[in-house]
Amino acid sequence: MPYREQIGARLWNAADNTGQVIVQHTTESEGGNTSVIGYLERTRAGSYQTMVDFDGEEVRMVPDNRQAWGAMNQGNRRGLHVCAMGRAEWDRARWLREGKLLERTAMRYAEWSRLYSIPLVKISAPQAAAGQRGIVGHIDISAAFHESDHWDPGHHFPYDVVIARAREINTGSTNKEDTMPSAQDIAKAVLDTQLTRPDGTPSETVGNVLAWIDQHAAQLVVEQLGPGSEAIRGHVVNPTRWDELGDRTQVEALAALLEAAGIGPRPVK
Ligand SMILES: [Zn+2]
Repeated sequence: MPYREQIGARLWNAADNTGQVIVQHTTESEGGNTSVIGYLERTRAGSYQTMVDFDGEEVRMVPDNRQAWGAMNQGNRRGLHVCAMGRAEWDRARWLREGKLLERTAMRYAEWSRLYSIPLVKISAPQAAAGQRGIVGHIDISAAFHESDHWDPGHHFPYDVVIARAREINTGSTNKEDTMPSAQDIAKAVLDTQLTRPDGTPSETVGNVLAWIDQHAAQLVVEQLGPGSEAIRGHVVNPTRWDELGDRTQVEALAALLEAAGIGPRPVK
C-alpha cells in the first residue's frame, strides 16, 4: 500500500501529546488525500498525524510526538489522530466496502499500539474523560470534553472490524491461515541445511554432521569405558568395562599394567 510523508507545512503544536488515545476521524469529503491535505495546508485549518485514503494510501502529516490540530485542546493534547477518507453519515455496509482503507487503518492502530502500548480497545467518552487509554472517535472526544460538536467518524464506523484486524496483525496470526512455521518445520529446515567447508566446497547437511559427531563420540566412550557405555545416560556414567581387560576400563587396565610392571609415578622435571 502506498505511503508517504508530507510534513513541510508543519501543521502542529510543538508540544508532545500524551498518547492516551487513538482518535479516529473522517474527512467528510471523498476527493482523496492530495485534495484534503492541500486544503489543510492552504487554510491551516486542521491536521492529523496521518491520513488514509480509499486505496489504502497513508500520508503522514504530523509526527507522533507533536500535537495535531484535530480535536480542540483536550483531544489534540491527548491523542494520536488518524483521518479516514469518508463520511460520518455512512452506514456499516458502506464502510465495509472500503477494505483497503480499513486494512491500512488497522495497520496504523496496530503500530501505534505496539509503539506506545495503547490498548486495542474501543473506549467510551466517559472512559476517555477519566483518562483511560484506548481508541475513540472524534465524536467521543466531543462528548467527553464539550469543546466542539464534531461527530465524525459517525455512529457506524466499523471499529470492531478494524480493531480485530489490528490485533491479528500484532499477534502474527490470522483467521484464514496460520502463517507461523511450527517448531518441527523450523527444526527440519535447520537439519536439512547444507553446510559449506572452509574451502568453499559443499559439505554434508547439519543433520548428518550431528549424527556423525554423536557416532564418533559414542565410539570413544565405548573404547574408554566398555561396551554399551555410550547408551548410559545421566549425571555420571557407570562404566560397563571390558571382559578382555579383566572387567576393567582402558584406564583401569593401564593402571593395573603399570602397577604390575613396577612403573612408578612420572618424574617431575
Ligand atoms: Zn474529526
